Amino acid sequence: VELFDTHCHIQSAGSSAGERSTRELWAKAGDTSVDDIVARAHDKGVTRMICVGCDFKDSELAIECVKNRENMWASIGIHPHEAKITLDNGLLEPFAALATRPKVVAVGETGLDYFYNHSPREAQLEVLKFQMQLALDNDLPMIFHVREAFSDFWPVFDEFSTKTRPIRGVLHSFTDTQVNLEKAVSRGLYIGVNGIVTFAKVPKQQEMYRSIPLKNLVLETDAPFLTPVPYRGSICEPYHVETTANFLSDIRGEQLEELAQATTSNAQQLFGV
Ligand SMILES: [Zn+2]
Repeated sequence: VELFDTHCHIQSAGSSAGERSTRELWAKAGDTSVDDIVARAHDKGVTRMICVGCDFKDSELAIECVKNRENMWASIGIHPHEAKITLDNGLLEPFAALATRPKVVAVGETGLDYFYNHSPREAQLEVLKFQMQLALDNDLPMIFHVREAFSDFWPVFDEFSTKTRPIRGVLHSFTDTQVNLEKAVSRGLYIGVNGIVTFAKVPKQQEMYRSIPLKNLVLETDAPFLTPVPYRGSICEPYHVETTANFLSDIRGEQLEELAQATTSNAQQLFGV
């Protein structure tokens, strides 16, 4: 089986640069390097990865990280947490210039986070809209982070996504309701599932994971965050996609090979790789 980690932040592993919370978590893992992480992933059949940027510098780092590595690609994004600081420092324009760099296959992660509200909502909305236009202008798919904010997200999405120029993308780390799952599927979006599924206790949520159409499902880790059960307490790495894939195969009643093949080919189709 070959698995695809469509969302990890390994570019800052062993680095003094990159988005702060991610980098600090990698530092706790000791002297781990990107090469070690990639080797461990390959051992478990996780042969393809997308390194996802969360701010201007972190996106540059993601591009650098994938430059000479086979089957790895970069996504450039301003995370909703980083919206205000990016605006305050005038970094949207230099960020936008990254869209045409080699191996950049998506815009994100971007979106709205009304759970933490680390940036004011107005700033989050402005920066999300900027990235939607950037994705359309460069014909790139998008990686969305939406938390407790779907009532504001869908109107923005529908404003930018039209029949002739639809926005393609994935709702990364999806944990929301059946209703929002159906809204996403009806708009042709993919659903990114990570280690959270292994510790989601609410029956309704388990049911939601079971009902994601296979044609819309992609796998991810969000490494170094969200380590799946039974490895809670250790740092999450792309190789953990294998654990999540096995768990999903159990609860959905699909063969692992079938799930792996479908999710990998979905990701290849979405990101054009
Ligand atoms: Zn992430």
